[in-house]
Amino acid sequence: MMLDYNSLLLALGVSTACLAVTLMGGWLVRRAETVLLTATVGLVFVVSGIFVYSGYVDRPEIGFGIANFVLFHAGFATIWGAGRQFLTGRLPLPGIAIRALAAMTFSIVPLLSGYDGLAFISDNLAIALLLFATARQYWLARAEAPAPILGITALYTLTGISFVLCAAVLISDGKLVLGKAPSNWAEDLSLAVCIAGMTGIGALSLALHQWRLAARHRLEAITDPLTGLLNRRALFDQYGTRPMGSTTAVIVFDIDHFKSVNDRFGHASGDRVIKAFAAELATHCRAGDIAARLGGEEFALVLKETMPGRAELAAERIRRAFEAREIEIDDEVLTCTVSVGVAPGRAKSLDFDAMLSAADKALYAAKRGGRNRVELAGHLEAVPVEASRTAS
Ligand code: GH3
Ligand code: MG
Ligand code: MG
Repeated sequence: MMLDYNSLLLALGVSTACLAVTLMGGWLVRRAETVLLTATVGLVFVVSGIFVYSGYVDRPEIGFGIANFVLFHAGFATIWGAGRQFLTGRLPLPGIAIRALAAMTFSIVPLLSGYDGLAFISDNLAIALLLFATARQYWLARAEAPAPILGITALYTLTGISFVLCAAVLISDGKLVLGKAPSNWAEDLSLAVCIAGMTGIGALSLALHQWRLAARHRLEAITDPLTGLLNRRALFDQYGTRPMGSTTAVIVFDIDHFKSVNDRFGHASGDRVIKAFAAELATHCRAGDIAARLGGEEFALVLKETMPGRAELAAERIRRAFEAREIEIDDEVLTCTVSVGVAPGRAKSLDFDAMLSAADKALYAAKRGGRNRVELAGHLEAVPVEASRTAS
């Protein structure tokens, strides 16, 4: 062999340390990604464990052994925690602690009892279990970004298998007392797999991280931050140019006398009212309906495959529900109303712009007609645009 075991071990330590630094850099750039910090902490434990283990290979003292087990099991349990956090969005601190302590106990107790062979069998099996459990977290999250996640799952699984092999060789040797670090073909193989696995997992983790950021940016670009509904741009991107099906209806809403809410209660309370209406709109959405905030206190609802009359009914239902909704602002309870314009599906299919401006005109009629009411664009259709303007 060109390089001895300990040199390879140090190479693994250095490459793992580089990965930890890279992940921490990712976290520093975007602090909200705490999963990167969790993974960094796990790697720091593992790196320290690798260097301690290298000490144990040279001088098999029980102190090194214990320190190695503590660091490895804390590290791999934390890496499992990062996988879990990636899947669920929450850091499972108790789960990490339980797994780390269980793994430490199973390997430290035999070591203290003088059975270092047994201790390394437990150690290898515990690490393998933690790696399989980590692979499982990514497997469960695979829908998010299949290519990098399946790669990560495979590499954690392979690395776990290499630790199972180490345990299997120790078991088949049957030596409960070794007096030194285990040294056999499985250890060499495992070290090589770890180096390859660490490099691969590192690269894929970064790719995954970029993937997640890009997906989040795409989502942010189409979402209205105040209400969580689609924003105006998303709505126009979706429908901008295509003609709408003849059974598609467009409904627009504008909260009545909203300026006076802002004036009396302040802008923040106005925002509350906007959110309350958005929530009302969302609860009335069926699958396939699209609700968006057009801006300010104006909203649009696009209904697909509506039966004749359904759009007006839906609009009326939402108007009535919002009128009845009590919005708590500080100590007061406020109620608001909304005016609604409906452009129902029609025989000739129009493009989105035309539908929206028809609904807008109906909305304007609802405002003029006294507010808190639904107007249908149907009867306006016969009136040419210019004529209806001069008439008003
Ligand atoms: P109308 O019944 O005719 O609709 O009367 P209105 O007072 O609601 O009139 P208008 O629709 O023109 O008022 C919109 C107001 O909404 C003006 C603006 O100050 C306020 N506004 C726009 N965007 C926001 C927002 O994001 N938050 C809050 N709180 N107010 C907003
Ligand atoms: Mg308005
Ligand atoms: Mg208004």
